Amino acid sequence: MDLERLERTLADAGEPAFRARQVWAWAARGAAGYNAMTDLPVALREQLAAQVPYSTLTLVNEVHARDGTVKSLFHTADGRPVEAVLMRYPAPPASRAKGSKRTIGRVVGRRSLCLSSQSGCPLTCTFCATGAMKFGRNLTASEILDQALHFRRMLLTAGGSPASSERGAGCPAEDAPDHAVFMGMGEPMMNLDNVLAACRRLPDIGITHRRTAISTVGWIPGIDRLAQTDMPVRLALSLHAADDALRSQIMPVNDRYPLADVLAACVRFHAAKRRLVFVEYVMLAGVNDRYEQAVALAERLDPKVFKVNLIPYNPTGSYDGSGSDAIGAFRAVLEEHGLRATVRLTRGRDIAAACGQLAAARA
Ligand code: SAH
Repeated sequence: MDLERLERTLADAGEPAFRARQVWAWAARGAAGYNAMTDLPVALREQLAAQVPYSTLTLVNEVHARDGTVKSLFHTADGRPVEAVLMRYPAPPASRAKGSKRTIGRVVGRRSLCLSSQSGCPLTCTFCATGAMKFGRNLTASEILDQALHFRRMLLTAGGSPASSERGAGCPAEDAPDHAVFMGMGEPMMNLDNVLAACRRLPDIGITHRRTAISTVGWIPGIDRLAQTDMPVRLALSLHAADDALRSQIMPVNDRYPLADVLAACVRFHAAKRRLVFVEYVMLAGVNDRYEQAVALAERLDPKVFKVNLIPYNPTGSYDGSGSDAIGAFRAVLEEHGLRATVRLTRGRDIAAACGQLAAARA
């Protein structure tokens, strides 16, 4: 919901200041609508329903992948497309064995949201589908939060008892989203005010700052600002190449912010926040997956500052992805050099909801 409009409407109605907080608290817990907010006077609920749309986003299409991933396409009030993704992961084996996270007959793992910060993206990374679509505009903080609230309500309906969703009292914590990554459409550092304003409220929805990550192409002013915030949000860097020539070729933004400067900004971030920076490296066959490129990458990254996440390429038409053997070999080289490296579990590829595939096509 448009939180500024909510506050204005409540102020104009002569309502006390706590009302806006009260409405937000209900929304953040997944209430289905104003009508579920039972400690608000009925007349006020009706007035809000008439004057402040419950979401700034309209759901246009939703697709469910076989692995439980859900991709939602929304339109903003001015018709801009926005996509967001819910990823559900299996519970880790330890909790399965202990049954510690078991709710009546179910075992639940992490539920992670991939949020968009812009409609489209002004950058033109050659492997990313979002970069090929027309850039729309920055999203407001409310438009970012409404993506998260949509999934909060969805998990409540799917997992909570009907009674709890009627009351809007919130579902068991196991059913709420608990991680968020700004890895959907757009470059979050180019819209950092709104992204940070959204981050500030994510804990109310169940997503702590420590479980929130902002991913960037290496937009240095944004990295430096994030290092100054009081929120312990994680930084992720989309690196994809360890030399300037190749990086500029596949990520033109590298001409503006070259590799050495970007890595120096990440080192400053680490010094300020004491949190590892996660490097994303999408594996493109014959482009950036050779042995000597792994060595060069390992030599550039201080293992005390960086951890690498190798990303299997999700087809967008322009490249061939490295096979799992090549990815495994690349990872082994990094680890031999003492750099921690993991391979990202691909989710939602059958519905084009995977990394780099968000382009607002109707599925
Ligand atoms: N602009 C930010 C946020 C988008 S994050 C950034 O680039 O970091 C999206 C992540 O998915 C980035 O790491 C991006 O490099 C990666 N990605 C883009 N296209 C991809 C593709 N086709 N396959 C796998 N990962 C891709």
